[in-house]
Parts: sequence; structure tokens; C-alpha cells
Amino acid sequence: MARRSAKLVKFNEPFDLVTDGIPSAPPGGAVLKVHFAGLCHSDVDISNGEKSHYSLPLILGHEVSGRVHSIDQSVDSSDIKVGDRVMVYAIHGCGVCSRCKVDKHTYCLNRVRKAIGFTEDGGFSDYMTVTDLSLLMRVPETVAMDTACLLPCSGLTSYNAVMSILPTVQEFVKDHGVPEDCAVVLVGVGGLGLWAVQIAREVLPDGIRIVCADRDIEKLTTAKAMGCDEVVHWDDNEAEDRLITVTTQACGRLGRAVAAIDFVNTSVTFSLVESILIWGGIHATVGVSGDTASLPLKSFTVHQHRAVGVLVGTQQQLKELLKLVADGKVKAPPITHHPLENAWHVLQDLRYGKVKGRAVLEVSKPSE
Ligand SMILES: [Zn+2]
Ligand SMILES: [Zn+2]
Repeated sequence: MARRSAKLVKFNEPFDLVTDGIPSAPPGGAVLKVHFAGLCHSDVDISNGEKSHYSLPLILGHEVSGRVHSIDQSVDSSDIKVGDRVMVYAIHGCGVCSRCKVDKHTYCLNRVRKAIGFTEDGGFSDYMTVTDLSLLMRVPETVAMDTACLLPCSGLTSYNAVMSILPTVQEFVKDHGVPEDCAVVLVGVGGLGLWAVQIAREVLPDGIRIVCADRDIEKLTTAKAMGCDEVVHWDDNEAEDRLITVTTQACGRLGRAVAAIDFVNTSVTFSLVESILIWGGIHATVGVSGDTASLPLKSFTVHQHRAVGVLVGTQQQLKELLKLVADGKVKAPPITHHPLENAWHVLQDLRYGKVKGRAVLEVSKPSE
């Protein structure tokens, strides 16, 4: 039996399609038969050399679901067994510091950040090595495997973003008493934003007003269908003052947002969010855009804004999100399937904004 992989050998050059032997399970780890691997903007950044500190050759793919093919004999595998349907939590820190030990890998005290598909080979391959069984989470039969691969990255990041604004939103709702007046603005309703619309509806206080802003009208139509109350078109050709006015009007009676999550995270959206936030409101920034924003320190202080940077969440949060999905309360954004051979082509579509919803590689059929 052989393994097929799409391997990044040189930055900015199409993947090499490589065939080699199926690896054996590493000490303490497992090998997965990969079913689905999501394509993500981080993959675009790595492949075009923007994250050239990663060493090549590398098999990308950090959004992975599949079946356990083999497990290292020496490891206690009472939780995970050969044949289990699983998804992969891709990030791990040093594993020994006090933060890593309590599932806060992204806050590693030793500033170690390892990740499948970044610092070690990932899921653009039909067999993938996982060095630590604790990174695997079983997927219930009620959750489709193409949805499952997206949960540990885009789904979990959105979940973490919504959880990061939750205490502030609760505080406003408690003090004001009318949740319909308390608006949360979600900026950018691509893959992450569409998760967030539904997660916000489930997790934030009942009746809260959810407003979505995007430059793309088609995306706003999808967001509306997924449950937001108001949409505002952040047209690139419109003056900033005008965008601020229409957005604050959409926020309802308080005239400002009590919280905003910015999934676009550029200097333009950062500035807009600062302008639409209520006194004491919270501003969560998501996504590693590489842009630099300037913060008006006086109004930031005087208006008592809170700012928080959000990365992917914890494994405990992933469990909570999985439950919402298994219970049918949160659904994946529209997903398109592509063969492994087309990985590079689809990645270029993603790079140039031509992918709607999420694109995933169907590396092997879930029935295999
Ligand atoms: Zn991702
Ligand atoms: Zn650590």
C-alpha cells in the first residue's frame, strides 16, 4: 500500500504530488487515514512564502478529519481506538509548562508553538502521522466528516472569539435589561464569520441583536439566511463617516455596538470598529492579516474600550462546539469538495478570494 501527498517543496510553486510508503505510528502517537483536509488562509500564507520561517519540504493541512489507521502499541489508547472517526486539534505548545498542562497550548509559557501542517507534516496526504494521541477527538456519527475537519480551526477560532466577548455582552444585558438593544457587530462574514453568526445566536444572551458587516453583498445575504438580524454593506467606495452612520443605525436604540468581532482585521476595519463601539464595549480582533492599525489612545482610554486578540480556542471549547454541531444547533458554512490533485489550484482560488464558504480536499472517501 502506498501513501499519496501534495508536498510544498518550494515557496510559490505548485505542490509536488508524491507517492511513498504508509508511515508507522510514532512513539505515543498514531497514523490517520485522512478523509478531509480544509484549505485555510494560513495555507495560502505559507505556500506563497509569507510565512517562510517554516521549513520545506512540508505537507500542509491543519484542518483534518479521518479514521485512526494505527496506534503505537506502547501507548494507552483506552480513549481512541483503531477505526475511530476523529478530528485533529493541530496546535500544541511545549506540553510541560503550567499553561500547556491545562489545555492552554496557545499561551505556552515557553513560547513554543508547534502545529500539524505548519511545523510538521499535515493532512494534504491520505495517511498522516499524529505525534500525540491527546490531539485526537472522536467525532460522533451525527457529525459529517467534512464538517468535522473544519471545527478545530475556523469553527473553534470563531467559538473562542464569541466566548471572548461573552462576559461584556452579559454585563450590558444585565445592566440594561433589554437584550434587543444590545448589538454585537460581526465584521467579515466569510468562513469564520458564518460560524460566528450561529455560535453567537446560541451562546450569547437570548434576544441579542446581531449585525453583520461585509464589503460583499452576496456574503451578507448568506449571513442573513444564517440568522443575523441586520446587515450593513461596508462598501469600499463609501466614505468612512457614512459607514459609521449606517452601522450605528443598525445597532438599534443604544446607537452603538456593545461588542464587535473583526474577522477582517485590517487598519480600515480596526478604525471602523473603534468608531462604532459603545463606552465600555469590547473589540475582538481575529485573523493574522499582517496589517498595522493605529489606535487613538485618548478615545480608547476615555471610552474605556476593551481590546482582545483571539486565536484558536482550547480543546475544552472544541468539545463544547462539537456538542452544538452534533445537536444540530450550529452548521458548517457551505463546503465544496476537491480532489487532492487540485490542492494547489484551489489554494490559488482561495488566495484571490474566489472561494465561497469553505473549500476542503476530499483526500479519501469516508467509506474507505
Ligand atoms: Zn485553518
Ligand atoms: Zn508550554
